[in-house]
Amino acid sequence: MEISLKNQVALITGSSSGIGAGIAKSLSESGATVVINYPFPGAKEQAEAVLDEISGNGGKGIIYQCDVSKEDEVVKMFQDIIRDLGTIDILVNNAGIQKDAKFMEMTLDQWNAVISVNLTGQFLCAREAIKEFLRRGIDPAKSVACGKIIHISSVHEIIPWAGHANYASSKGAIRMLMQTLAQEYGADRIRVNSICPGAIQTPINTTAWDTKEALDSLLTLIPYNRIGQPADIGNLAVFLASDMSDYITGASIFIDGGMTTFESFSTGG
Ligand code: NAP
Repeated sequence: MEISLKNQVALITGSSSGIGAGIAKSLSESGATVVINYPFPGAKEQAEAVLDEISGNGGKGIIYQCDVSKEDEVVKMFQDIIRDLGTIDILVNNAGIQKDAKFMEMTLDQWNAVISVNLTGQFLCAREAIKEFLRRGIDPAKSVACGKIIHISSVHEIIPWAGHANYASSKGAIRMLMQTLAQEYGADRIRVNSICPGAIQTPINTTAWDTKEALDSLLTLIPYNRIGQPADIGNLAVFLASDMSDYITGASIFIDGGMTTFESFSTGG
């Protein structure tokens, strides 16, 4: 069955790069109008390049600058999108950063930076999205759901990660945010789920794949023996945004080539 997201507006945070750009392209290919969000003026060109590719393939969208960790900017972004595009049907909470350090050396700035973007940013955008979903109500011409939120979490939602306490904590917390929202707004027909990627080839983790040695070492963690691509995540996002997944809410879906089967136990532990 062909999935159509026609006439639906999707906001993908942090979509000037990597997984977010991949998701924006996939949602657009399924007919959604996409909002390519980028955080700072320096990323505008990259956002434009993503939109150019989408437009070149016949898709529709806009770019929008907003730092998702800033409440006033997020509120304004939603107001502007609703004014210009009518509503928002799909929110993909994707923007995320890493500021790695051994725990004893981790500064409060490193901790706060990661929690502010990865967790608070997802809270702020989800709150504004739910307000808009409830204001608009269900539009059966578009979807049987009142709105869809997809959080981009990580395998580190469940796998502890030494040297990345801030990042792993942010992703663990996203699971509870996602499940609480799914519970609180299920009766309103708002579906809320998380995608938990394993190793995906993007700029956030270049050192994990940019040399043969690094890639070989990474592949020892992945039974399926390849690194993931943004399009892998895009395909799942399309499914979760569509009515094909209408009975899925409150779920964390791992998309990791089997990383969470804990490959190091493959020889018996
Ligand atoms: P990426 O290529 O670095 O993309 C992150 C995006 O977020 C960029 O567009 C970035 O813009 C944007 N961003 C950063 N701070 C922002 C802010 N304050 N407001 C709005 N946008 C902001 O990394 P990625 O791998 O695609 O990561 C996307 C998401 O996937 C993250 O949540 C990450 O934790 C998650 N994830 C990635 C992997 C992986 O293996 N790659 C695995 C599991 C989970 P700039 O580039 O301009 O900073």
